[in-house]
Amino acid sequence: MEASIAPNGAILLGDTVTCDAHWDRRLRVITHVHSDHLWGLQESLEQCEEVISSPATKDLVRILRGITDLTPLPFREPKEFEGERLTLFNAGHILGSAQVLVEKADGRRILYTGDFCLSRAEVIPADILVMEATYGRPGQVRRFKGEMEERMGELLEKLLRSGPVYIFGYHGKLLEVLAMLKRLGIGVPIILPQRTYHLAQVGQRYGMSFPPYLSPTSQEGRMAKSNTYIALYHTGAKRYIRGEGYRITLSGWEFNQPWRQTSERDFILALSDHSDFEELLEYAKRCSPQLVITDNYRAGDGQTLASQIRGNLGIDALAMP
Ligand SMILES: [Zn+2]
Repeated sequence: MEASIAPNGAILLGDTVTCDAHWDRRLRVITHVHSDHLWGLQESLEQCEEVISSPATKDLVRILRGITDLTPLPFREPKEFEGERLTLFNAGHILGSAQVLVEKADGRRILYTGDFCLSRAEVIPADILVMEATYGRPGQVRRFKGEMEERMGELLEKLLRSGPVYIFGYHGKLLEVLAMLKRLGIGVPIILPQRTYHLAQVGQRYGMSFPPYLSPTSQEGRMAKSNTYIALYHTGAKRYIRGEGYRITLSGWEFNQPWRQTSERDFILALSDHSDFEELLEYAKRCSPQLVITDNYRAGDGQTLASQIRGNLGIDALAMP
C-alpha cells in the first residue's frame, strides 16, 4: 500500500517516510509540536536517517523538549530522497504546523494533512489523502467560528472591569489568543510565564504579531499585577494558579455557543485550531483523491468520518488502524 497508518499511530507515506510516530523508515517527519505527533521522537532520532520538520517546529521542539537535531525543511521546498520527493505545506493549525506531500517517481501523490485548519491551510490535490478526524462527526460544527475574535473581545472587556483575567490553553492556541489580543487592541498589561514567553518570541521570529508582554517575575510584571491584567497560562497550570480574578479555559469541544459561564469566576471559550466536520469534508472534496484514509488512532472519530466521506462525496474512504 502506498499509504497506511501503523498500529502505533505512525503515518506511513510512500516507501521512505513515517510521520508523527516512530517506524522503521529512513525519514521521520514531525508535522507539529503537539505531543500526540511527537511519539517515539527519541527512537526516530536514533534510528532514522533524518528527522524533518518545518523551521518553526524545530525551534518549538527545542524549547519544549530540549532537542536540537531536527532537520528544518521550509514550506514548499521539495526534498528528493530515494526516488521520492517530500514537500511540506502550511497546515494552518498551530505555529509551524505542516501538511506532508510525498510524490512517487511515477507521479503518484500522497498527502497527509496532519492537524489542520481549513481557513488558513492550502488544499493540496492528491491521489491518496490521509487526514485527521478530530471532529469527524456530523454535529461537530461551529457556526459562530467567524465571530470568535469579536466575542472574545466583548467577554474580556466585561470581565476586566472587575478584575484580572487568566486564560488557560495549549501552547499553540495561547499564541493565537495573543495575536487576537493585538488585533483587538486590548490595552491592559499581558503576562506570560517563562515558557510561553519564549514560545511567543519564536512566534514573532516567524511573523506573528503580538502586543507587548511581560514575564510575571520581572519588576514590570510584578508591578502590573497591582492593577488589572491578562495572563496566559498552559492548561496544565490551572491546578496551581489560584487567587483573584476570572479564569477562561479555551476548548475545542464547544459547538453550541462562543462562550459559557461554568461558575462565578470560570468561563469556557470555544476556540479551536482544527477544521470542524464540514471543513474536513470540504478538504476531501477539493483535494479530490481516489482514496481517503482517516486517522483512527488519535482523538476523534475516523470510522464515522470515513463513512461520511463515502456517503456524501462518493470517494472511497477507510479508517486506520
Ligand atoms: Zn495538533
